[in-house]
Amino acid sequence: PSSVPPVFTFALRGYMRTFYHLGRLTLNSFKSYTPVLSPQVSRSVPKVLVRGVTSSLVCQKGGSPAWGSKKHTAKRKIRLKQLALEMMEPEVEAQLAPLRAKVKEQGDKIRQLKADGAPDVDVKVEVQLLKARKKDLEDMTLKLMPADTFDRAKMSDLIKRRFFYDQSFAIYGGITGQYDYGPMGCDLVDNMLSEWHKHFIIQERMLKVNCSILTPEPVLKASGHVDKFADYMVKDVKTGECFRLDHLIKQHFEKKMSEKKTTQEEKDIMTRKTTLLDGMTMAEMDAILKEYGMKSPLTGNDLTDAMEFNLMFPISIGPSGALKGFLRPETAQGIFVNFKRLLEYNQGKLPFACAQVGNAYRNEISPRSGLLRVREFTMAEIEHFCDPDDKSFPKFASVAHVEMNLYSACAQMDGESAKKMTIGEAVRGSGLSSLGLLQTTSEMETLDSYLCDRSYIIGNEPTQADTTVFQALAPHLPLASHLPHACRWHRHLSSFTDKQQKSFPGEVNTVDELTGGRKKGLVANETLGYYMARIQLFLHKIGIVPRKLRFRQHMNNEMAHYACDCWDAECLTSYGWIECVGCADRSAFDLSQHTKAASVKLCVERPLKEPRMEETVTAVTDKGLVGKAFKKEAKAVTDALANLSISETEELDKTLTAKGEAEVAGYKLTRTMVPSVKREQKKVHVEEIIPSVIEPSFGVGRVFYSLLEHSFRVREDDDKKTYFALPATVCPIKVSVLPLSNKPEFAPFTNQLADSLTEKNITVRVDDSTGSIGRRYARTDEIAVPFGVTVDFDTINNTPHTVTLRERDSTEQVRMPIEEIPETVKRLADGKLLWSEVAAKWPKFTQQETGVTK
Ligand code: AMP
Repeated sequence: PSSVPPVFTFALRGYMRTFYHLGRLTLNSFKSYTPVLSPQVSRSVPKVLVRGVTSSLVCQKGGSPAWGSKKHTAKRKIRLKQLALEMMEPEVEAQLAPLRAKVKEQGDKIRQLKADGAPDVDVKVEVQLLKARKKDLEDMTLKLMPADTFDRAKMSDLIKRRFFYDQSFAIYGGITGQYDYGPMGCDLVDNMLSEWHKHFIIQERMLKVNCSILTPEPVLKASGHVDKFADYMVKDVKTGECFRLDHLIKQHFEKKMSEKKTTQEEKDIMTRKTTLLDGMTMAEMDAILKEYGMKSPLTGNDLTDAMEFNLMFPISIGPSGALKGFLRPETAQGIFVNFKRLLEYNQGKLPFACAQVGNAYRNEISPRSGLLRVREFTMAEIEHFCDPDDKSFPKFASVAHVEMNLYSACAQMDGESAKKMTIGEAVRGSGLSSLGLLQTTSEMETLDSYLCDRSYIIGNEPTQADTTVFQALAPHLPLASHLPHACRWHRHLSSFTDKQQKSFPGEVNTVDELTGGRKKGLVANETLGYYMARIQLFLHKIGIVPRKLRFRQHMNNEMAHYACDCWDAECLTSYGWIECVGCADRSAFDLSQHTKAASVKLCVERPLKEPRMEETVTAVTDKGLVGKAFKKEAKAVTDALANLSISETEELDKTLTAKGEAEVAGYKLTRTMVPSVKREQKKVHVEEIIPSVIEPSFGVGRVFYSLLEHSFRVREDDDKKTYFALPATVCPIKVSVLPLSNKPEFAPFTNQLADSLTEKNITVRVDDSTGSIGRRYARTDEIAVPFGVTVDFDTINNTPHTVTLRERDSTEQVRMPIEEIPETVKRLADGKLLWSEVAAKWPKFTQQETGVTK
């Protein structure tokens, strides 16, 4: 119709494409553009907030098409390769060996640079090259793996047809990076989260909060998000189209490199620049943009200078617009700012954990890959607060046996694949336990891997532990060449004289003391290891395929400066390895930041072993004057004064004496308000510590999408029949009731059965349509209904009344009395009864005896 603006006609014509917008949604600036980006999707959020930004999410060459675009609907098979976790065939290994060697060579080079104390910038350059080599290895590994055909188009078709989820505002053409969940998607997510609730909140006795999404600016200023949560971008000077700068440069280079006229030398320069992009400053990227005269890939127009684009959605709270804020980019901050109350609720005791599930908002410049990079998504986050000096976990023994696929930073540097080991081994480490013996090859190898870990610190100062190990190795010299880490570490230590070695910091331990005490493992501490294991158990429980799950450790350069250790749970999908859950030891960073910014102590009192005498200096206030001057805020002023450290109070005293006034937490105070300071010697029984935080952070949409891919199946006998083999516990509908005929005699049986199932809170779907039973089964399979009950002529005609119960994945059917159904299905759906047990107990059903009502 003529009244419909062009953009709507465009949408109505059925071209559902990616729409870009400039921060705000301006309909007339909609464009149909899907950026063709390089395969690696990683966000270059600066160091302070590097929170899972380097997912090894690999999308297809040419970028992921927008939902509903032609590319998506094209019947194109994606061959999902199985992962590199199992031992590989020798011939595959042979092909990977040179790439592994290249990664290792680069890893060694970096270690050496660090050992030699090379400048940071040189190390950074080499790290970028290491990343490029790692990616080549990963790509080749995936290429050589046995094919596991996965048809993404087929799955997308099913998801769309049965409305698991779809693009938001689809009738207006849709918006990239925003999705609506339909009935199936909603229920599946709810069930996943209900399992999550049981698994973490109930089992671990966690606290829970539900905090505001509208977050005032000072909170996110303190957390570092205002200053650092940004990507770089440029705009088309005429149309205002926005481009993520690193993507644009990569895309430009890819195009240039494919042109015949580009010389090899030019290609090499571009390759090098591409590998360095991740660590580049905005000015450096801008210089490249200008050097190559890059234009808008859509219009050929000029581009603006590079600018920082903060990924948070700015808002103004209230009608005046005076209170600035943001939609929260993560749920975690809500927990940190409530720490004091949570601690009180927990009777002042550590450790404790608090969880929050809710939406977070990130204004991604180029959202893509369906649900994997969106602008609005649900997070389920846990903040576990513990003593910074004791990160042991009382229940650790209960998970110590859990076997995990761990892809350590060291293995990534050496070009090795992920390794299976128990979390017990990974945390406790077996390295030093055998040091006293060091006789067998495996003991030497264990030592080697311990020293591999240790080799990260060789750029820094060694400690007395290194001296001890160095001496213990003396009888084993020269070290065998297959112990590369030990050799390198030994070489490094040899460069110190005896005297220097004796003066290394740290306690002087004997080998036995080292081996008997806490040993260095791959995973920093028990609490972190415990959560990693629990994350894995949860993901397995909801249906993530074990061999498609690994934990990848952040390399030093990826990790935020304050983090001690960080592991991402990554799921293998047709887009590559996707970071679904981040699990980090964030030390005391967040609470310290908010303590400083809000002038409210977010700390815990820890009893001292022995009481000690301490000097205290407190500001003495004239309460009357302070009350008169600050009225309602007088308490905040006295609290701020009470929270000052000794040195801050002394500084305040000096300033008040010198100038007559001073500012504390934004309040102007005069000498008369604070006439003096009081010095006292006090016997103290407790000390104040800022707790460490271990944070498992789930991206619910990513887990949900991975789960769909992992459970998607096509029936062998009919490739039109597709279904999701989800575990019954998370299936939206647990059972279907299918009367074979719509004759009136069937209705009482069908209705009574459905009612008794509902009474037990079992979700049920009655399908009394006229379609063949086979078609009706296929329809319920598509929406993952795990069990189906068929009421047939034998049910009506024979007593006792029996029905068939069918299991979705095997399509096996058994015959059982109708009254047994509710309890059996309930136990099956709760995971308390296995189908194999049901199949063993009841006779197998082949066909009914009667075909008409008697
Ligand atoms: P982060 O705070 O960046 O470590 O993110 C925590 C988790 O949120 C990640 O492990 C992802 O699963 C998820 N996540 C982060 N960004 C996005 C996004 N743009 N779209 C969907 N999920 C995301």
